[in-house]
Amino acid sequence: MLSTMQDVPLTVTRILDHGTAVHGNSQVITWTGNGAPQRRSFREIGARAAQLAHALRDDLGVEDDERVATFMWNNAEHVEAYFAVPCMGAVLHTLNLRLPAEQLTWIVGHAADRVIIVNGSLLGLLAPLLDRMTTVEHVVVSGPGDRSLLDGGRVRVHDYEELIEGRATAYDWPELDERRAAAMCYTSGTTGDPKGVVYSHRSIYLHSMQVNMAQSMGLTDADLSLVVVPQFHVNAWGLPHATFMTGVGMLMPDRFLQPAPLAEMIESERPTHAAAVPTIWQGLLAELTAKPRDVSSLTQVTIGGSACPPSLMEAFDTLGMRVCHAWGMTETSPLGTVARPPAHALGTPEEFGYRLTQGRFPAGVEARLSGPDGTRLPWDGESAGELEVRGNWIAGAYYGGAGGEAIRPEDKFSPDGWLKTGDVGVISPDGFLTLTDRAKDVIKSGGEWISSVELENALMSHPDVAEAAVVAVPDEKWGERPLATVVLKEDATADYASLQEFLSTRVAKWQLPERWALVPAVPKTSVGKFDKKVLRRQYAEGELDVTRL
Ligand code: AMP
Repeated sequence: MLSTMQDVPLTVTRILDHGTAVHGNSQVITWTGNGAPQRRSFREIGARAAQLAHALRDDLGVEDDERVATFMWNNAEHVEAYFAVPCMGAVLHTLNLRLPAEQLTWIVGHAADRVIIVNGSLLGLLAPLLDRMTTVEHVVVSGPGDRSLLDGGRVRVHDYEELIEGRATAYDWPELDERRAAAMCYTSGTTGDPKGVVYSHRSIYLHSMQVNMAQSMGLTDADLSLVVVPQFHVNAWGLPHATFMTGVGMLMPDRFLQPAPLAEMIESERPTHAAAVPTIWQGLLAELTAKPRDVSSLTQVTIGGSACPPSLMEAFDTLGMRVCHAWGMTETSPLGTVARPPAHALGTPEEFGYRLTQGRFPAGVEARLSGPDGTRLPWDGESAGELEVRGNWIAGAYYGGAGGEAIRPEDKFSPDGWLKTGDVGVISPDGFLTLTDRAKDVIKSGGEWISSVELENALMSHPDVAEAAVVAVPDEKWGERPLATVVLKEDATADYASLQEFLSTRVAKWQLPERWALVPAVPKTSVGKFDKKVLRRQYAEGELDVTRL
């Protein structure tokens, strides 16, 4: 028997309509660096999204399902594209502007992007690549920048404001099938070609509801969220969509992602929440230590993308910014877990431990652990295995290119359709995930696993250590052993022996690294995570100055 309930498609259009009608006065504030931030209400964003959709359809001939790429910072115009493109029936393709040129050109070709909306300040990066991006016919430039960089090129160039000016501020958005593609994002592709994850209207809608749950980010229209996590990195963790559901304001840093302007915008615009990867927070912490500012408005900080070091969480707690740790992937939209401690742990010594986990699975994300031989492992907080997940905002395949079949590589999807995350960890009986490594980063020493994350966290709690990354390196006797690469703070005096001594009080003796190297900075990926593949290569090619204790 079927239910008697209505069946309204869950689409991004519904989110846009709700945000502009019910929360029309909420704002997207974009930092301009000139002392006068740009302020645009959700209502204005909706009107301009309609204008953009008209322009894309009428002038640029964008058709249903066609990919429209963005090469942009976080700003109001990017939010406009976030709604215009999916709501008109096309697919928003956010390009990661930090990827190497070859990957970018490959991705644009694979997605067959014909239109790219770009910030003028990024033309220096994009313009030299356009000749190789043979599918691209139109470039729409938004904001200041040197447009002469596009002179004499093959593509037609449009100015964003001129393109939308005078167009109707309402659009008769089509009623879309909720399973249709709304947006896509390529994984950063550490091995092989990057892979395209295609989000549906339905997956975005359901994911946004989850982001808004009290046990998740749980923001309300009393909040202003500083969205540091790039809009090209898994839809800025869903914030632009989630905020339009609840009326949370957004403070967008545009290209001003350095610690000093971030501290300045926190002091002057007084956001209550912020979201970013740990590297950003490490930088901000150093800035605030060197030059204290009034950051008292910022009471909630969502940290994810890589493990949050305990020392960072403690330091932020001291500043009154409560860190909430979360885990996710491009394939999981991204929010997969959020570390809100259970009620019984609040105010107890257990609370901090819960907050350091990657978090608890929300309803809608099913999880299981798989042992090396494919056996299911119990949720006992001890059995470590590869995490597999499934749910309505979890990818079940990758984009196969125009006209191509969806791709389901065996190492990424189980035969029964679960996503193999490549993350290794344990799950407690009450559903909290603790990751110990990426599957490809685990250190297998004499048949035992050493957690690089545990060693890194321990090292980063040393007062002289700014950053530390630990990777597996080949070892004749043990198969693999940990190599510790360390960035020392200015004026630090610690040496390798004292660092090892410090570690020995925190991890088992057989896990202590004997190979050490000081590095000026830990290499980072395009989204600011430790790039361990670069470290392993540097070690293999003898580029690191390694000391053996
Ligand atoms: P990406 O798809 O580029 O966002 O990368 C996803 C990967 O980042 C995950 O599979 C994890 O390995 C890592 N990651 C994300 N969040 C966390 C976290 N809170 N702790 C540890 N690793 C994380």
